[in-house]
Amino acid sequence: MAKYDLCVIGAGPSGYAAAMRAIDFGKKVLLVEKAEIGGAGVTNGALSSKTWWELAKNVNSLYLHKSRYNLSTPEINFNELRDEVEAAVHERKDMLTSHIDKLKKLASEKISITLMKGNAYLKSPHSVEITSDKGIETIETDYIILATGSRPCKLDNIPIDENIIMTSDGISNLKEFPKSMVILGAGVIGCEFATIFSSMRCTKVNIIDKGDRILPFEDEDVVEVIEQNMEEHNIQIHRSSQMIRMDIVDGEVEYELEYSDGRKEVYHVEKALVSVGRVPNYENLGLEEIGVELNNRGIIDNDTQTSVPNIYATGDITADIALVNVGELEGRYAVERIFGTPARKLVYENISTIMFLNPEVAGVGLNEIQARNKGINYKVASVDYSLIPRAIAKRNTQGFVKMLVTDDDEMKIIGLRVVGEHASSAMQAIALLISMDKGIEEIAECVHPHPSIPEGIQECVRLFLGKSTFKPYALNNLMQCKVYKGENEKV
Ligand SMILES: Cc1cc2nc3c(=O)[nH]c(=O)nc-3n(C[C@H](O)[C@H](O)[C@H](O)COP(=O)(O)OP(=O)(O)OC[C@H]3O[C@@H](n4cnc5c(N)ncnc54)[C@H](O)[C@@H]3O)c2cc1C
Repeated sequence: MAKYDLCVIGAGPSGYAAAMRAIDFGKKVLLVEKAEIGGAGVTNGALSSKTWWELAKNVNSLYLHKSRYNLSTPEINFNELRDEVEAAVHERKDMLTSHIDKLKKLASEKISITLMKGNAYLKSPHSVEITSDKGIETIETDYIILATGSRPCKLDNIPIDENIIMTSDGISNLKEFPKSMVILGAGVIGCEFATIFSSMRCTKVNIIDKGDRILPFEDEDVVEVIEQNMEEHNIQIHRSSQMIRMDIVDGEVEYELEYSDGRKEVYHVEKALVSVGRVPNYENLGLEEIGVELNNRGIIDNDTQTSVPNIYATGDITADIALVNVGELEGRYAVERIFGTPARKLVYENISTIMFLNPEVAGVGLNEIQARNKGINYKVASVDYSLIPRAIAKRNTQGFVKMLVTDDDEMKIIGLRVVGEHASSAMQAIALLISMDKGIEEIAECVHPHPSIPEGIQECVRLFLGKSTFKPYALNNLMQCKVYKGENEKV
């Protein structure tokens, strides 16, 4: 029976990162994947959807500039665009696979990695059974990392067939842009797909939102910009609505909504996308049988370690923050815990995120809703994009930069939100300052590249320090500095 130091189950971003980090410790590593290398980080997930988003952004841009360049209305060819998305997915999968092939060729006492295609099942804390086309093989291992990811959540009362009523996994089954579509769920993934489909201008998009606004976890000023653009792009947001039923009738979708005022309406569209969250893949792995503690959300872990000491869990399976960068962080951290001592604690406070909407929204640390929920007093400064030369040069000044710092002399950075073109361009710098528990002085005097969006962040910081270039008392509709103290008090 083959014997390994570490068996990683699942070759998505988390498992792949874990396996590669284990190589640094000179360990004999087995990486098992039952479907596609890269997991949802590549296929039917982060990379495929971002490729769609970039293509949609190009289309938007063509429309915006067509009269200037005397262009006729762009012809959007679904197959051409779908092929481009598939090319991106293949490119990344090939890269991930050929990297392992190259490492295998270099195999030495120090480097030992095997990628095995098959479905893994834990027979005991130290043995894993792998079922593939070639048969069943059982291996022995000192440690196991479970990185089996998550899948779209399905609702019992909706007949999801991944063709007419889809989850994000079914997008790749589309043969053309539907003429109309409803998206159930106004979270990040639902709103990203609403942005993509509406930007192509081939699909009338509707979103079902049980609250009175989309992205309920995000600050109102952020959501306001996104909703305004969505409605300008002909997206209908069914606000404060409950879905009573959704069925497939004559090859199309029929859905009925009940609004908060008691009104009921029936709608018909060509396709539906159900985007109501993701559930961790912890079933059918033999976990209960070998004593891994579970609760109704999945695996109970203590800083990635499960209740069975040599078994760890990382990435989406842990049902916390479902992001590629978080999965990678956890995978690398688990390996460092197993074979060494992690240099840093596993912290989630300074994780940067981007929502690929129109325009892009980037964030790190807390937003105002989160700071208030935690009972933190804070100062908040915001600077409109129209004060940032790069935004002017891009001929799109829609957006703003908003920074939160502690309401004390140190003014430590609590969080940042940027809405607009190039929003993500300064996130890492701020993430680093948050993780170093630093204040804002350093940014105020650091020479930023010009013209760049991070100059807006610098102006926010100078606003806190009372030395901004533009003066809020002259331009108070474009820049503001406020203090939040206690419940609902903003002065
Ligand atoms: C539409 C969409 C868009 C997204 N956009 C972003 C984004 O912009 N940015 C971002 O950071 N994140 C994004 N995400 C989230 C991101 O894709 C996930 O958080 C990330 O892929 C999780 O990585 P993981 O390794 O934990 O799991 P996964 O990527 O799900 O990989 C798990 C792997 O384990 C394999 N597996 C499962 N069970 C077994 C078994 N028994 N044996 C062997 N193999 C098994 C699966 O086949 C899979 O390949 C998006 C997700 C979706 C669905």
